[in-house]
Amino acid sequence: MSKWRIPQVSTGDLLRGNVGSGTGLGLQAKEIMARGELVPDGLVNEMVAIRLRYPDCERGFILDGFPRTIVQAEWLDEHLAEWSHGLPVVAIELKVDYTRLVRRVTGRRNCPVCGSIYNVHLHPPKDHARCDLDGAELVRRSDDTEEVFTDRLRSYTEQTGPVVAHYRSMGRLVDMDGDQPVDAVTAGILAAVKRLRS
Ligand code: AMP
Repeated sequence: MSKWRIPQVSTGDLLRGNVGSGTGLGLQAKEIMARGELVPDGLVNEMVAIRLRYPDCERGFILDGFPRTIVQAEWLDEHLAEWSHGLPVVAIELKVDYTRLVRRVTGRRNCPVCGSIYNVHLHPPKDHARCDLDGAELVRRSDDTEEVFTDRLRSYTEQTGPVVAHYRSMGRLVDMDGDQPVDAVTAGILAAVKRLRS
């Protein structure tokens, strides 16, 4: 995140990178991700451990899509003292209405060059298949179909629901309405993080 000069560490992006370059982890994760299920905790935790040791994480970091299970959350709690340099955890749950969530996921298109994200329903590019910034052909994630989305949502409810309860019980959870405009969500998150960190 540029405002705080800290990196966004997305476990989904890291896993897709491993799948794309055909690493051992990628080969193990590929089929699981295609089914909309969760990759085993041990593999994901190890991947996160390696990424958080990079120097750009010294001032803090944003974990995107992690932890997604109680095992991951407990592992993270245990290791945060080492990695977060004493910075407190703030967990954010973004809530979006089901119908809008389906449209966001099935309409999502990504630029493989600059990483810009569009939505053919809600935020279409000027040229329907190309990035406004660099003209690259946009791609759709293979798990952004309605069918796989249903399984991803089931994994979220069953396995990530307890993680939300975990951070709520610690008083570290921010509930955020993700159906608002981007600027409003950003402002809400910044205010809540400031409050919880003080
Ligand atoms: P995402 O890009 O966050 O939607 O993640 C895409 C897919 O990667 C998920 O559906 C899972 O298969 C896998 N994945 C991402 N993060 C995790 C995680 N923390 N634990 C297990 N699997 C994950």
